[in-house]
Amino acid sequence: MIQKTQLSAFVSEIFSSAQGEGVHIGRRQPFVRFCECHRNCLYCDTPVEQTETVRIERVPGSGAFEFVPNPLSVEQLLELLHELNDPKSAHDDLFITGGEPLLQADFLEAFLPEARQLLNLPVHLETSGDLMEPFMNISDHIDHVLMDIKLPSVTGEPETWEQHQRFMEKIKAEEIGATIKLVVSADTSDQDLAESAELITATGTCSHVVLQPMTAALKTDRVPTAQQVLGWQSQMARALGHSVRIIPQCHKLMGLL
Ligand code: SF4
Repeated sequence: MIQKTQLSAFVSEIFSSAQGEGVHIGRRQPFVRFCECHRNCLYCDTPVEQTETVRIERVPGSGAFEFVPNPLSVEQLLELLHELNDPKSAHDDLFITGGEPLLQADFLEAFLPEARQLLNLPVHLETSGDLMEPFMNISDHIDHVLMDIKLPSVTGEPETWEQHQRFMEKIKAEEIGATIKLVVSADTSDQDLAESAELITATGTCSHVVLQPMTAALKTDRVPTAQQVLGWQSQMARALGHSVRIIPQCHKLMGLL
């Protein structure tokens, strides 16, 4: 029985696809993409504005979309996901992404425990990894975090090392599985990578570190060369004392959403 709540959230799209980033690449997931973001990364490829409607796929993998009005209540989102989570589609996890989902953490706090129970799927959260307070309220309902360390030389934004550190300490304290993703562009600085390695080592957060070469986006075409990325991989692996993977945005290569 779904509990009724007054909470609602702005969601841009709901669909079923294969994961295209990080070490869980290829896993089949219902995606819930929340609107809004507090950051403005140069390489952003996602519309983050609040939308009047939610684009929804009702039949998993069909690529056929309908539109329903925003915002969605907890009950509405649960019903849409219940319909999408057809057992034949064999989903592995529920993937929560954005924008920045933690901007709507009050909603997530009510939604996630119900969704976990209803869908019987582990919950993966993709986040910019710099909003620790809202994360604290929902961390009990998260099984894996795909978090960014935002490199100022790549995002074009001010540094947020301290915010990342607090976020990673929480992940460590809660023993949540984590993948740390660093988007790298041709402008990546050695100093930013050294700072990231120090942070990962100091917080002892995670065994999975991924360098994701930037894909050309609306505001930048500073795609790194293969030689640059291989050099940074060696630099990071030496600093961390364990393997670092290079994984591009594979959903784009496969023509997936
Ligand atoms: S955090 Fe993600 S969604 Fe937000 S601006 Fe950066 S790339 Fe875009």
